[in-house]
Amino acid sequence: MAPQSETTAFIGLGVMGYPMALNLRKGLPTTHTLLICDVIPSALSQFQSDTSSLGPVEIVFSGYEAVQKADMVITMLPDGNAVKKVYLDEESGVLAGAEAALKEGVKNKIIMECGTIETATILEVARVASASSAASNLTFVDAPVSGGPMGAQEGTLTFMVGTSDKDVFPTVKSVLAHMGKEESVFLCGDIGAGTAFKVINNYLSAITSLAASEALNIGMKMGLDVSLLTDVINVSGGQCWVTSKSNPVPGVQANVPSSRDYEGGFRIELCAKVLKMGSDLADMVGARTILDKPTLAAFDEAKSDERYKGKDARVVYKWLNECERK
Ligand code: NAD
Repeated sequence: MAPQSETTAFIGLGVMGYPMALNLRKGLPTTHTLLICDVIPSALSQFQSDTSSLGPVEIVFSGYEAVQKADMVITMLPDGNAVKKVYLDEESGVLAGAEAALKEGVKNKIIMECGTIETATILEVARVASASSAASNLTFVDAPVSGGPMGAQEGTLTFMVGTSDKDVFPTVKSVLAHMGKEESVFLCGDIGAGTAFKVINNYLSAITSLAASEALNIGMKMGLDVSLLTDVINVSGGQCWVTSKSNPVPGVQANVPSSRDYEGGFRIELCAKVLKMGSDLADMVGARTILDKPTLAAFDEAKSDERYKGKDARVVYKWLNECERK
């Protein structure tokens, strides 16, 4: 077993985590050991086989074991329940493992969640970590990503980092740079700020997906040239990421999800999930919002229809276009 300072653990080898961990293994020196953990055994064996020529990869079975053996534990988990299980479980959790490691004289560990998890859960883990006996030797970081599965595969993710111990940022950045571009690793503020940045950005892009779809659908129903309408919008006040980079109207832009039947993008279910997180965050901090509720209702209606479920969120354009006006 390599020394702890040369051991990093990665928990959650799913759609995002698998390619992230693969790029991490490629980026770490071959003397460095990568520990991997997932509840799906086939993901672990596949990963070991895919990385057999890249350096040591060993399997661990819990957050407890991971944090005892590694000085940094990165997790890429699907939701708040999984985060609570992996971090807070009294027997198998990361925090219990960190306390046990401290008793054995081990110092200074960084634990980092990179999924899109509701702010309340991130702050709960932070609160328990800061109350634990290992608190002075443990830094919890939230570092959610944007860039999707493609960015994870290409190693071009953007990371939004929140940590109350700014001294760890250079170390965090050097590791995240194996999975994203170094200039795209942002220190956003204290713990929870990374998640808030991510959720607020997605809140806006979810709402603009619907708003841009409505606007372009009006043009389409009027029989206008929607490609030309897009060109004019993109040099005018209505321009946004959706109109310029992921236009919802099929055929207006090449190589975007709408032009391949809304496949291979950011699924409408995930988009709605993160919009709801933004709405909950607004409630938590007492920020008045108007557009979240009707947008969520529109997404709910679209994703409950077989024709649109599972597709890229910009499928709300197709849903609007095929709806009868109420
Ligand atoms: P996923 O469901 O494909 O992967 C999650 C992995 O975690 C699975 O392999 C699962 O087996 C594992 N896991 C669950 N519970 C576990 C436990 N207790 N111990 C160990 N492993 C466990 O999800 P994903 O699409 O990779 O997304 C991961 C996170 O990234 C989510 O929070 C998601 O919101 C966020 N995210 C996803 C995308 C995307 O487009 N898929 C983009 C940006 C961010």
